[in-house]
Amino acid sequence: MAARVDHYSVLGVEKGATADEIRSAYRKLARQYHPDTSASEDTERFKAVTVAYEILSDPEKRQRYDMFGDAEVGDLSGFGIDDLFNTFFGGSRRRERGPARGADLRLQLDLDLEEAVRGSEKKVVVPRQETCEVCHGSGAEPGSKTSTCATCNGRGEVRQVQQSLFGRFVSVATCPRCGGAGTTVDKKCARCRGEGRTHAEREVPVTIPAGIDDGQQLRVSGEGEAGTRGGPPGDLYVLIRLREHALFRREGDDLIHVLRVTPPQAALGDEIDVPTIEGDKAKVKVPAGAQHGQSVRLRGKGVPRLHGNGRGDQLVYLDVVIPKTLSKEERALYQQLDAIRGG
Ligand SMILES: [Zn+2]
Ligand SMILES: [Zn+2]
Repeated sequence: MAARVDHYSVLGVEKGATADEIRSAYRKLARQYHPDTSASEDTERFKAVTVAYEILSDPEKRQRYDMFGDAEVGDLSGFGIDDLFNTFFGGSRRRERGPARGADLRLQLDLDLEEAVRGSEKKVVVPRQETCEVCHGSGAEPGSKTSTCATCNGRGEVRQVQQSLFGRFVSVATCPRCGGAGTTVDKKCARCRGEGRTHAEREVPVTIPAGIDDGQQLRVSGEGEAGTRGGPPGDLYVLIRLREHALFRREGDDLIHVLRVTPPQAALGDEIDVPTIEGDKAKVKVPAGAQHGQSVRLRGKGVPRLHGNGRGDQLVYLDVVIPKTLSKEERALYQQLDAIRGG
């Protein structure tokens, strides 16, 4: 038979303490010794004060205890300390012990206009957390034993009781020791130091669809960070940035190209070869009497449409360049021209 426990002295109150005194003594001690907010060796004391409170706060149980001691109070082994704690302090239980999905990652990828127009296969280097190859994410050295986490007693979470103007409230957080798993390993995996994940820089192939534009984003499924506790990996998002091009400016699915022409070419009309984004040349018909800033459309020489068939156009803008200096002969011809137009 165990020695009789003095529940009054466990709570630090007098035998004739009022219900309020018992209640406030328990509040104080429960916060002090609760396993989630204090060292694990205090767990037994927490149980003791909780048992004491359970008995002394119930007038009927208290009376019987006063008369007969512990033996007559009844079986207390099945009662839930946590339930009592929650009733007393408020707060709810929220478990986050299951598999957790890995984080999504975002990278920027710079492309040449040609690569965006044709589409391409690129490789990006992704720094990320991957599931440890040695322990397969468990964090345990192969062959080591797993035991219940002493910090959270296997609950996977810790609670902090905080005092505010409006009273006490309980905040719940994932256990820092076991990361929410509720278990710890005797021998941590040497490779990942028990993290279950290791850092890696992995080359990930990315398929660039023809027609992609600056600012658009590609999602590569499952290439983000590894999940924890067997959770699925996150996704990789690749943000596309187009480098400036020397000859073309993109406007939606159209490509703008500026063509310099002389006054006679503009006045008389001409046929001129211009570059295209595909690398071959295309003929531009400059109409007679073309104006500065006028554009000529080359159908289907633009960017392939990302969602749909066909391509945009190449727009050739005419830049009529007036010569800054004239040769003697040119000067004579312009003067002659002027005389004709003036007359
Ligand atoms: Zn490992
Ligand atoms: Zn824990």
